[in-house]
Order: sequence, then C-alpha cells, then structure tokens
Amino acid sequence: MGTRRGEDPESIFSSDSDEADGCLQCGLCCKIFGDRITPAPENLFSWMEEGRDDILRFFMACLDDGRWVWCNELSPRDISGIHAVEMRDPSTGGFPTVCPFLRRIAKNRYICGIHELKPEMCRNYQPWVWGETYFNRCPALKKKEESLWPKCRE
Ligand code: SF4
Ligand code: SF4
Repeated sequence: MGTRRGEDPESIFSSDSDEADGCLQCGLCCKIFGDRITPAPENLFSWMEEGRDDILRFFMACLDDGRWVWCNELSPRDISGIHAVEMRDPSTGGFPTVCPFLRRIAKNRYICGIHELKPEMCRNYQPWVWGETYFNRCPALKKKEESLWPKCRE
C-alpha cells in the first residue's frame, strides 16, 4: 500500500515491496480506512526525531492526565505518558474525512506521501490475509483469488 516518499512515480510502481505484496496502488484501502489511522509510539518517536511536524500536526494525543495535545507540541520524553492518539484536522481540530497523506499521481494511481515513515498499521496492512485486515474490495486480493481459483469461476 502506497509508495516511497520523494521517489519518481515511474519507479515507484516497480518497487520490490509493491511487487511482493501485489498492491495495485488503487488507493481504495487508504480512502476507506485512512481517516482513522493511529501511529505506534515508535512512529511518534521517529517523526519527532526527524522533525516531521508536517506529519505530527495531523495527530492529537490524550495524555495520562486526560489532556488532549497536538503531537507536534510534544517531545520524545512525553511518549510514555500518551494514553491514545487520534488523527485530527489541524485547521479545525475535527476528525478528517480522508487521510491527508494520500496523493493521487495518475487517473487510478495513488501513493502514500509519507511511505518511508508511514505508521506501522499501514506498513503491516495486508488485505489478502484473512482476519482483521481482510478487505474483500481490494483489487489485488481479487486478482490473487482469481489466480488461485480460476476453475471455480467458470
Ligand atoms: S485496496 Fe488493495 S490494491 Fe488498492 S491500494 Fe489497497 S492494498 Fe493496494
Ligand atoms: S498514511 Fe499512507 S498508507 Fe497510511 S492510510 Fe495514509 S496514505 Fe495510506
């Protein structure tokens, strides 16, 4: 899902990771689930260490004392006191309707604008594995199923 930040789009489509998981980069999973992604503590730490306020500003953290604080106002030493993190629109404080990092680069092609630093839950997302992340509208999943069970569809 998604592509590497700053790469030439032409090379993105043939990256090892995308070939390995068969993702067609239609962007559908990001469009549907991307408005509720949450970073792991290690994601917050690396964003803080790399000064990525452009990412941190889209998240609010609930601290142990119950206060909600913008993540770009926190430092690594605050991470252990975070109780929950939610994606928010920095201009309104409300919940966004789409992931702000999704980028459209062609008619039916989308990339992740923060691919190298995207949250663990996006990195580990596998719609073709049965269970919590199974996503039956994923075209890559349909392609895999068709190649596995061609005769059943005749
Ligand atoms: S829905 Fe499937 S093919 Fe489309 S971007 Fe997500 S993982 Fe890739
Ligand atoms: S952070 Fe990237 S991979 Fe995750 S939902 Fe947003 S665009 Fe998709």
